[in-house]
Amino acid sequence: MRIALAGNPNSGKTTLFNALTGAHHKVGNYPGVTVEKKEGTRKRDGKEYHFIDLPGVYSLTAYSVDEVVTRDFILEEKPDIIVDVLDSTSLERNLYLCLQFQELGIPVVGALNMSDEALAKGIHIDEKVLSKTLGIPLVKTVGLRSEGIEKLLDCLDSIDEAAKTAKLSAHSIHYGNEIEAKLHILEDRIAQDTNFAARYPSRWLAVKLLEKDSDAFKRLTEHANASAIESCAKEAAIWVGEHFGKDAEIIVGEQRYGYIRGALREAIRLVKKVDFSLTEKIDAVVMNRFLALPIFFAVLWAMFQVTFIVGQYPMAALEVFFSFLGNSITVIMGESLLQSLIVDGIIAGVGGVLSFVPLIVILFFILSTLEDVGYMSRAAFATDKFLHLFGLHGQSIFPMILGFGCSVPAIMASRTLKSPRDRILTVLVTPLMSCGAKLPVYVLLAGTFFPSNAANVITLMYLIGAALSLVCSLLLKRTVLRGEPTPFVMELPPYRAPTLKGLIWHVWEKSWSYIRRAGTVILAASILIWLIITFPITNTENTSSASSEYQALSTSYAGRIGRFLEPAFRPLGFDWRIAVATLTGMAAKEITVSTMGVLYRVGSAETEGSLRQALKADPDWTPLTAITLMLFTLIIPPCLATLATIRTEIGTKWLLFEIAFLLSLGWIMCFAVYRIGSIGTA
Ligand code: GDP
Ligand code: MG
Repeated sequence: MRIALAGNPNSGKTTLFNALTGAHHKVGNYPGVTVEKKEGTRKRDGKEYHFIDLPGVYSLTAYSVDEVVTRDFILEEKPDIIVDVLDSTSLERNLYLCLQFQELGIPVVGALNMSDEALAKGIHIDEKVLSKTLGIPLVKTVGLRSEGIEKLLDCLDSIDEAAKTAKLSAHSIHYGNEIEAKLHILEDRIAQDTNFAARYPSRWLAVKLLEKDSDAFKRLTEHANASAIESCAKEAAIWVGEHFGKDAEIIVGEQRYGYIRGALREAIRLVKKVDFSLTEKIDAVVMNRFLALPIFFAVLWAMFQVTFIVGQYPMAALEVFFSFLGNSITVIMGESLLQSLIVDGIIAGVGGVLSFVPLIVILFFILSTLEDVGYMSRAAFATDKFLHLFGLHGQSIFPMILGFGCSVPAIMASRTLKSPRDRILTVLVTPLMSCGAKLPVYVLLAGTFFPSNAANVITLMYLIGAALSLVCSLLLKRTVLRGEPTPFVMELPPYRAPTLKGLIWHVWEKSWSYIRRAGTVILAASILIWLIITFPITNTENTSSASSEYQALSTSYAGRIGRFLEPAFRPLGFDWRIAVATLTGMAAKEITVSTMGVLYRVGSAETEGSLRQALKADPDWTPLTAITLMLFTLIIPPCLATLATIRTEIGTKWLLFEIAFLLSLGWIMCFAVYRIGSIGTA
């Protein structure tokens, strides 16, 4: 049995999917989390249920990528059953989509999810009455507590049985006699081409044609008698428009809402009047016209402060641990090539990156809490007007804030944006939001060169990144991406207390991918880097002296590559070692730190000390170098994984544009900062 889970964004599809399949996919209290379909199976009594979690949509009009994903999936893959996950607290809106599913001619089951919240709000739903009026089975569920799951599976079983024995009668709403008459003509004509009618449900296509759905017209071209049906549909739409004095698609929508309201009047009893709920009280402040934006910035500022101030203690402890580990191994093994590989290569590289795990965990914990509580949607509203000034869309704030965590899911979240122009723009500027992997670079440099002000310097980096993304979008919008942003429609979810279980999962999922990278990509990179800095081994008379070690290093492969690139980096005040570190950072940004860990410790007189001490002791390093390198890391093109995502989302042409754009921007900015800074300090 192949069962599609579909419904409005934020109705709890992923939560139900996880409850059904035992998976742990990310849930979030804002739209756009599930932008790709996910699949999982559940076995019960020897039966296998295959579930597909589809992106959340409000309608099946095919305006945005996720609507197209959902619609195409149902049309092309024809699941056996659609489970429409409904938010019981706003059924009027949720059922609008349900009616459209019914028209697709595939059996629909309604999961009345969030029934706990509906009850708390005093909304009593008589699911038997509602089920009868709508003509679909309904099951009350609470996704969060896995309630109603067995009942839902029972319901799927009985539909499966019914489908085997008899053809299920499709139930569709009645649009009124006049419209129905037009629809019947269209339906009959569509059904004449049996091949075509087998692929696309005639009723659905007839309604869509009347609604002037461009995708439906596109599909119609495959019909043997396409042009006749097309003109018939257009005539019908014109007739309806003239007859009712409104566009056909508006009339169709009104009919649906009227039908839903009628059904709900029968089935819903409001027990207590919800007047000024807690959500509204909080929103009176948080969404206040004057306070919303300052509150948003205060929240971001607090987030970074907490991350760095709380995170520095466990981080320092880990650094001490890894340096102790390295020293102990040196004592036990004595100095040798293998010892050098383990201590200078692996421990310096992997340990350097692992020391940042506490920071990453705290940052992700805060981001996940903000998501789960429902603040992210407020942030979109609060920043909408502000973002418009820069040619961005309110919904762009999701990808941008997610970008503080990791650019890959952030860029994928841009799929909720309806207009392609808004989407491309958002994807292009999202990498400028400093991701978690850039944090190690900031912490290392700010902590070393601005010890008393580290948190502020790092926050400043994040601010510069955010400001640059705004300025760049303005720039791009004036040049390569002209056009007006589309209007903003989104509803605010109620505030919800996050569940500890959910939070732990989010944080674990994200932190684990960071830790796993330390064990794989970064381990490999560290060994590779150690190899290219150790070989070829040149004979120096006195191997213990720091200066000869430095010399050996500079004639190594790494030294040669770095020196080859150095002319491009010199104007920014960077030497060949930074060139190498930047290059290796392309694999993952935190590798910049591990590379420096290897490069500077080998070359430094203080091989025993930490990377911080090595940098401090290096005469080439000034606070200005640190600032310039932080800025450079912030701006230049993101890691390979992100570049690959950009390519799949907006194509190779835009990817190449992005690389060229960010490289030039990074170089020019850093050149300016370094030159101006040098004048200041000279
Ligand atoms: P999706 O966008 O439809 O996939 O929705 P999610 O599964 O991501 O859930 C959205 C939010 O609703 C999350 O914060 C969930 O924890 C919460 N949620 C899901 N199901 C329920 C439920 O039955 N009751 C309550 N109170 N909250 C729920
Ligand atoms: Mg989801």
